Amino acid sequence: MDISVVIPLYNEAESLPSLYEWLLRVMSEKGYTYEILFIDDGSTDGSWDVISGLHRQSPERVHGIRFRRNYGKSAALYSGFQRAEGDVVVTMDADLQDSPDEIPELYRMIQEEGYDLVSGWKKKRYDNRLTKNLPSKLFNATARRVTGIQLHDMNCGLKAYKRDVVKNIEVFSEMHRYIPYLAKNAGFTKIGEKVVQHRKREYGVSKFGMSRFVNGYLDLMTLWFLNRFGKQPMHFFGMVGSLMFIIGFVAVVVVAAMKLHALAIGVKAMLLGTNPYFHIAILMMILGCMLFLAGFLGELVIRNSQSRNDYLIREEL
Ligand code: UDP
Ligand code: MG
Repeated sequence: MDISVVIPLYNEAESLPSLYEWLLRVMSEKGYTYEILFIDDGSTDGSWDVISGLHRQSPERVHGIRFRRNYGKSAALYSGFQRAEGDVVVTMDADLQDSPDEIPELYRMIQEEGYDLVSGWKKKRYDNRLTKNLPSKLFNATARRVTGIQLHDMNCGLKAYKRDVVKNIEVFSEMHRYIPYLAKNAGFTKIGEKVVQHRKREYGVSKFGMSRFVNGYLDLMTLWFLNRFGKQPMHFFGMVGSLMFIIGFVAVVVVAAMKLHALAIGVKAMLLGTNPYFHIAILMMILGCMLFLAGFLGELVIRNSQSRNDYLIREEL
């Protein structure tokens, strides 16, 4: 099968019929063999009825997965990825903001130019300028720095992947914003970009509020940390912990030596217990020990976890 189209959706009943027809038009024009996977992420608006209807029309082409409740876009994409069978997997939003007309070129870039992943770039966006476009620019600049992947629109819903990529990444919590980074960390480094058309939302409302920016940044930090120290927490906690302990220890020695010196030459000096430096130094030593312990516990957790050795094999002879 050439293409699997994976479409996560949450309350998009009005958009689905036109989206489906448009997809059908593009797919039959090009003569691809394909499947369309709708993942209904706990909709409450009759989206599932629409999907069931489409499935009845063409049972081999249209598949649906229905979540018991709203788990989020990441979970929806992930379950779609697990079931996708096409050589190229295309993801797109269900709200008609992404255009199916982009699929042939995305497919070509994966198949002929050998990209592992091609991400859409909504160069001209039809979203609210203040709440979306501007923060998104800032967000992408940060993401580029942290991930080292030069994409303008990392979180674009319209993307195409080699099948191998989607089978080997785990999109969880709200990590759908960083799929290119997940792919890169899994060893899929040929990541490209294509300017895509973007359209106004015709029906329904956006499903992500302002919390997206806070969560987005926190998740980026998590991913960076996991990638850097996830397999060796001691390298981080041990280093910072030891450093703090050493500074604290040296400081205690200095404070105590100054006190002894004062005693020796008979000058009146502050009691150690009332000297703020003494307390700061002791605090540093305690914090240092705690961090060290945190690192050690982290190592123990990793040694006992299932995925302590989850390397990916590209080829075998
Ligand atoms: N979506 C989803 N689960 C959610 C939130 C969103 O499956 O919990 C889907 C949504 O139905 C749409 C896509 O993810 O197909 C993108 O969402 P939306 O259009 O609201 O995001 P925006 O375009 O505002 O960034
Ligand atoms: Mg949208």
